[in-house]
Amino acid sequence: MFELPEFVTLAKQMNQTLKGKIIRRGQLGNSPHKFVWYNRSHEEFESLTRGKIVGDAQAKGKWLFLPLEPGYVLLLGECGGKVLYHTPGSKLPDKYHLYLIFKDGSFLTITTQMWGAMELYEQGQEQDREYIKGMRPTPIETEFTYDYFSNLIEDPLKGKKRSVKGLLTQDQLIPGLGNAIAQDILFRSRLHPKHTLSDLSEDQKRGLYQAILDTVDQVIAHGGRYDETDLFNQPGSYIRLMDKNAVGKPCPECGGTVEKIQYLGGACYFCPDCQV
Ligand SMILES: [Zn+2]
Repeated sequence: MFELPEFVTLAKQMNQTLKGKIIRRGQLGNSPHKFVWYNRSHEEFESLTRGKIVGDAQAKGKWLFLPLEPGYVLLLGECGGKVLYHTPGSKLPDKYHLYLIFKDGSFLTITTQMWGAMELYEQGQEQDREYIKGMRPTPIETEFTYDYFSNLIEDPLKGKKRSVKGLLTQDQLIPGLGNAIAQDILFRSRLHPKHTLSDLSEDQKRGLYQAILDTVDQVIAHGGRYDETDLFNQPGSYIRLMDKNAVGKPCPECGGTVEKIQYLGGACYFCPDCQV
């Protein structure tokens, strides 16, 4: 699944590659898939996208906003899979969930891996969508200060018996983070996934905050994680520190053996010696 750094990478590449292109035809998927969330019929999507011009893409949390001007925004979100640019004359993939062909013959296809939103809104209405309206600051925004972060942890309504992994992955508390990036944030901050938020010392809180910023920055700088691909079907160059490949191997920090547990709806990979 894409997380914030992968969406930032896709948005940047779309701005370099798709911006200004005119849509000849837009189509929803040819492969029915009940976990793809559409808000338009095939006919509506085709007529509303025809002749539109691709604007400036933006990423926020696990969402990507692609203006189709004038007047519309294509919203992609909570998805993984393949968002691919194809040069003119390329072969159309057998299966796709969204297809935009441009006047110059190049095209974009989107195929989700598990689920995801592919919705077309009148400009502005996308901001009222569930999960977007009222979205909290993400780690790449200036509002994500240490004071803000500290309040987020201490707010008694949210802090009730929540663990560090819960803070990183549940309820969109920190939008854009997911299970994959959370593993490396926890390792960098030397915290066990089950460490209770209310037990964090001031130093641990500061360490966790810094680990979030540093990890997100590094993954963005590397164009995403190595296990996801970009607009040109190239894997990112960020090699995860703690993932399935690390299990049973020595911890890069202390030499202890990396372990795996299932916790809060996903696998956790951690060093039991240095993550407490
Ligand atoms: Zn260790």
